[in-house]
Amino acid sequence: MKRINKGDSPEWFEAWKQDFKSENGREAHYKNDFSTNDRDGKMRRQRLRKQLIKEQGNICCYCMKRVFLNNSHIEHFWPKTFFPQIDLEYKNMFASCNGEGITDSDGHCGHKKEDWWDEEMISPAKTEVERMFKYSIDGKIHSVPRKPTTNIAQKMITQMGLDNYHLIRNRRNAIESSEVYDEERYSDENIRDFIDYYSNKDNDSYIPYCMAIVDCLRDCLSE
Ligand SMILES: [Zn+2]
Repeated sequence: MKRINKGDSPEWFEAWKQDFKSENGREAHYKNDFSTNDRDGKMRRQRLRKQLIKEQGNICCYCMKRVFLNNSHIEHFWPKTFFPQIDLEYKNMFASCNGEGITDSDGHCGHKKEDWWDEEMISPAKTEVERMFKYSIDGKIHSVPRKPTTNIAQKMITQMGLDNYHLIRNRRNAIESSEVYDEERYSDENIRDFIDYYSNKDNDSYIPYCMAIVDCLRDCLSE
């Protein structure tokens, strides 16, 4: 998982919530008020999703797959069914991919997670998400052992389908096309430069599955 640096909530979004409150005398909620089934609701959803995708450097908040407007949805980290008081809180909103979505076992990320939650789960906005999972060269994801986060990391992997075979294959492909598989022997200094490259946005985008590549590059360091 790549930590998402959440910026301020967009002004238009906060203004819309304020206007709603003045007109209706109550706080707006996501499903019935913001994400209505009409044209306006669709426009609002798209506008917000566009902002979230951009903020995340065009990758899914959970699996780091490349996301676009047409293969993503607005994800509430704390599910809106159980946490209606924060269902329009910008900090609780992310852009998730839609998974591969053919059968249940193909699902991953937001649609697989659905209403699952656990009080210990850690949001993609927290730096800890970059230290609680570990990716190996075969494309698999693991919880980092012997840490306070080990248990919850394992639960998140299962509930979000992050060990799904589509994702394992995609990560393996991403690792194989990175410097990890180059025949050249790189110095630690070179490797650190690559790590830096994959850890940061390039032209406002992260490389898909960047943290999986970073973990494998770290394993290539001699010290
Ligand atoms: Zn995803």
